[in-house]
Amino acid sequence: MHLNLKNTFTNLPADPEKDNYRRQVLKACYSYVTPKKTAKPSILHVSDEMLESLGISKEESQSDEFRDLFTGNNTYPDSTPFAMCYGGHQFGQWAGQLGDGRAINLFEVEHNQQHWAVQLKGAGETPYSRSADGLAVLRSSIREYLCSEAMFHLGIPTTRALSLGLSGDEVLRDVMYNGNSAYEKGAIVCRVAESFVRFGNFEILAANQDHDTLKELTDYVIQQFYPHLGAPSKETYLAFFKEVAERSMEMVLGWQRVGFVHGVMNTDNMSILGLTIDYGPYGWLEGYDFGWTPNTTDSQFKRYRYGTQGEIVGWNLFKLANAIYPLIGEAEGLQDALEDYKDNYIQRYNKMMLEKLGLSIAFEEESAFIQELEKALHKTETDMTIFFRLLSNLKKDKSQDPLTVVKEAFYTFDSITDEVKEQWNNWFEKYFDRLGLETDADQDRKEKMDKVNPKYVLRNYMAQLAIDEADKGNYDLIEEFYQLLKQPYDEQPEKEKWFAKRPDWARHKVGCSMLSCSS
Ligand code: AMP
Ligand code: MG
Repeated sequence: MHLNLKNTFTNLPADPEKDNYRRQVLKACYSYVTPKKTAKPSILHVSDEMLESLGISKEESQSDEFRDLFTGNNTYPDSTPFAMCYGGHQFGQWAGQLGDGRAINLFEVEHNQQHWAVQLKGAGETPYSRSADGLAVLRSSIREYLCSEAMFHLGIPTTRALSLGLSGDEVLRDVMYNGNSAYEKGAIVCRVAESFVRFGNFEILAANQDHDTLKELTDYVIQQFYPHLGAPSKETYLAFFKEVAERSMEMVLGWQRVGFVHGVMNTDNMSILGLTIDYGPYGWLEGYDFGWTPNTTDSQFKRYRYGTQGEIVGWNLFKLANAIYPLIGEAEGLQDALEDYKDNYIQRYNKMMLEKLGLSIAFEEESAFIQELEKALHKTETDMTIFFRLLSNLKKDKSQDPLTVVKEAFYTFDSITDEVKEQWNNWFEKYFDRLGLETDADQDRKEKMDKVNPKYVLRNYMAQLAIDEADKGNYDLIEEFYQLLKQPYDEQPEKEKWFAKRPDWARHKVGCSMLSCSS
């Protein structure tokens, strides 16, 4: 197996200490560390697309060499694995140094003019592991592996995944933090992205008042990933910030469009490239509910609920602005950019919602019109994915009863009260009026709507089914979902059973509706 290594991040200042023990790291962006050897490594699944992206053949992916490299049991010749140093605001509070506690970067690869950073998640302790073990379990690794690839195919910026492996070791976890620890299978995901740099990489340097390294990191990120912005200067730093804000907005609008709830939007989980990163206790909306978060750790304040994700990105950008402020020395430009984020977000959110509704003409009352729809969706438990997908079947000549067209989206259609029905009918009246102004024929509108309203997403209970099967040693569902979610916007008649509301057994099951950070 030959990989075209092209390391760039390791040109930044390294921690001089090479021993692997917990410590505070100063004046450095990373620490060298070697992945842990494991008892009996095996590879459960590989992404054929990422193989191709990295220039690895299918045959090579079946070799012992591949298995050992991507489970951390061997290092690639002349590579120097390392863990990144970053900090972060967790649930609104500055948490100090965090860092790659269970991610180890292997190397960077250049292939077909694309640049990739390759890292293992769950490959053992690092200087940043704090009180934890640096390991990951099968359940959370399956969730990350399947969902990051699914998000890519939904057209939402994200880190990718190359492989899912088992370490052969057992890992002790207390899933719901209630004193019931149990051994689970250890697993390792190989993740791939242009870069894994986070807002927190900047924050830790600013917090340590290490402005020299902060400048080095910022200049590196701009030259490597935002080269069109030009040579480093105060103007470039501001332009960089604006583009990070733009990309982050694009990302979170994607989440809102498909009903993805990240669950832990701490600043250490915000990519500087606007990628969805760190798939932990995430979830997909089942009942359409602004107040929903899958993360039980956040169940009291619900800081990271569906309805606030756009606002939280703005809050996180504010923290990034503070971190890079020393390089600019003036707050005004950054403040304006943050204000712009807020204003633009509302407009862009509305535009996105109109697209979901197949409406191309903006109008003055669009905010009220969208809010009226959102209110109706909250009145009874309504599956978001099914609602928008079925809505594209509506004919604008009013020949159908609109509620009947979307009937399947409601969990308990028969119990919808007359009052709520009237609310729906009022909204549909307005919707028909808007449709009447559009020039698209029904079929054309349907095609456009079906490109932004997925038919298939990784429903929470689906991920859990794949996990339960994998625990028993059967990996067929992982492959089935991996393939299914490659074409989330296409009709796949033989897979229709996955276009269905959450079954009742999954309503209160751990892993389906309730997840913790324990992974
Ligand atoms: P997360 O909430 O998963 O984004 O993690 C927050 C911080 O905790 C990061 O610095 C992680 O690297 C670290 N962390 C999470 N789980 C572990 C673990 N099992 N071992 C070591 N560090 C971990
Ligand atoms: Mg994280």
